[in-house]
Amino acid sequence: MRRYCSCDCILITRPRPNKTMTANEPSAFAAPNSALLDKFISIVGPANAIRDPNEMQGYLEELRRLYVGKSALILRPGSTEEVSEILRLANESRTAIVPQGGNTGLVGGQIPFDAGNEVILSLSRMNRIRSIDPDGNTMTVDAGVILEQAQLAAEKVNRLFPLSLASEGSCQIGGNLSTNAGGTAMLAYGNARDMVLGLEAVLADGRIWDGLRALRKDNTGYDLKDLFIGAEGTLGIITGAVLKLYPNPAERATAFVGLNSVQDAGRFFALAREASGNELTGFEILPRFGLEIVLKHGHDARDPLEEPHNWYVLIELSGREADGRCAACLEQLLGQAFEQELVSDAAIAASLSQRKDFWRLRELMSEVQGLEGGSIKHDVSVPISAIPEFIERANNLVTRMIPGSRPVPFGHYGDGNIHYNLSQPVEMDTDAFLAQWDAVVTGVHEIVLDLNGSISAEHGIGRMKRETLRKVKAEVELEMMRKIKVAFDPNGILNPGKVL
Ligand SMILES: Cc1cc2nc3c(=O)[nH]c(=O)nc-3n(C[C@H](O)[C@H](O)[C@H](O)COP(=O)(O)OP(=O)(O)OC[C@H]3O[C@@H](n4cnc5c(N)ncnc54)[C@H](O)[C@@H]3O)c2cc1C
Repeated sequence: MRRYCSCDCILITRPRPNKTMTANEPSAFAAPNSALLDKFISIVGPANAIRDPNEMQGYLEELRRLYVGKSALILRPGSTEEVSEILRLANESRTAIVPQGGNTGLVGGQIPFDAGNEVILSLSRMNRIRSIDPDGNTMTVDAGVILEQAQLAAEKVNRLFPLSLASEGSCQIGGNLSTNAGGTAMLAYGNARDMVLGLEAVLADGRIWDGLRALRKDNTGYDLKDLFIGAEGTLGIITGAVLKLYPNPAERATAFVGLNSVQDAGRFFALAREASGNELTGFEILPRFGLEIVLKHGHDARDPLEEPHNWYVLIELSGREADGRCAACLEQLLGQAFEQELVSDAAIAASLSQRKDFWRLRELMSEVQGLEGGSIKHDVSVPISAIPEFIERANNLVTRMIPGSRPVPFGHYGDGNIHYNLSQPVEMDTDAFLAQWDAVVTGVHEIVLDLNGSISAEHGIGRMKRETLRKVKAEVELEMMRKIKVAFDPNGILNPGKVL
């Protein structure tokens, strides 16, 4: 992994006990016998099939070792046609398939269960940029292209592919689309779903759907690509995509702002939206305790402001022309915010390196929480106007449940996506703290739902939130989802035991 997580999430200090972690699903499938395994291997060739347990290891567990599984075979197809042959055989033989991209998912969707009867289909060899059209602002890629490679390919033709995650050095476009990833550019460009024009996917029975259309407008009935996006590999295998490209920003203006309350952060956000419209490309919040632990543990981290403040906002504006408009707009905005007493102090980045230092304070938030002992984490969203109420209610709840625990609510204010984290009390035993995981998560989720929010803002459902999904979705929604699953995958071979 190249960088630390700006979305927060990976640095849980140790795996927590969880019933779904050891569940032996999908028990309905028999383990493929050796004749069948040989047939699968002959599709990709022995060099692209992995059976050696040592070589398998990297595909069987994710970063945090929260999910560790077993697999009968790992296949690394080199083309859409090979994916098609694999699925045809899997469907005929009723073999369960687990699609895997860069294996950076945080909800266990890409990891097989421990029965050892599933075959992992890794897209990593399908990593070609198929074509780029700078005039049409599109790029057609294989699903296994690493996100950072896609960004670089766009940059080479002076365009921007704006999806940006801390895992971008490893995650793949197919995985990004299958999880409908969010990230730091969401405020200005939307999530992964918003950056796609067309898809190519292989259906459970092996048929190839060529939906690689580069059209901005196409109202020809149901939008099938949107079903595959966010489906976490349960409806088909994404093998290619037409992505949208955007003009490269020519200038940026960034400020680190101190505020008294999260309510003021909300009012400041509304003002910033009004004053800068689409030029507002970043609006992240940090609590004082978060900044304190960044300053304590972060190498060379420095508080840009002289006095401590209860809350901080990292705000960024981006413009298409290098004409100083963004800097002027930011200064004017801060002036208005001071007048209205929404902000107490602010530092504007005077150089690229200062801008990087400001962002580093935000990006270190996850890493440093790992150094403060156990941490219980949530990836939730609520309507933007409900963020202050959410944080206040959640803080009251968790500090009542675990006196001395230290809430660290931070993240993408402008998306309503708060990483509501809780660091353990200083003197508490870490295992005893983490034993409260389920109770805390249930309580926080209840508040989220009461505010019409979502239990998964950007990471998906996978294995981790499957049981919760059943509790929080209306029966009519679950029924529609189950019917879609059966229509696309009648034998249930695609990523069984995930999402539904
Ligand atoms: C450090 C770090 C930072 C992160 N930051 C963010 C963030 O800011 N925002 C965010 O949204 N997420 C974030 N994540 C989570 C993760 O990176 C994203 O979910 C990412 O989109 C997963 O891509 P992947 O290629 O690694 O997919 P994988 O982890 O391999 O798979 C994820 C899911 O997609 C399915 N899948 C993968 N490829 C395909 C395919 N081609 N066809 C069908 N199904 C497929 C898998 O079966 C699985 O269910 C972060 C993770 C880490 C480790």
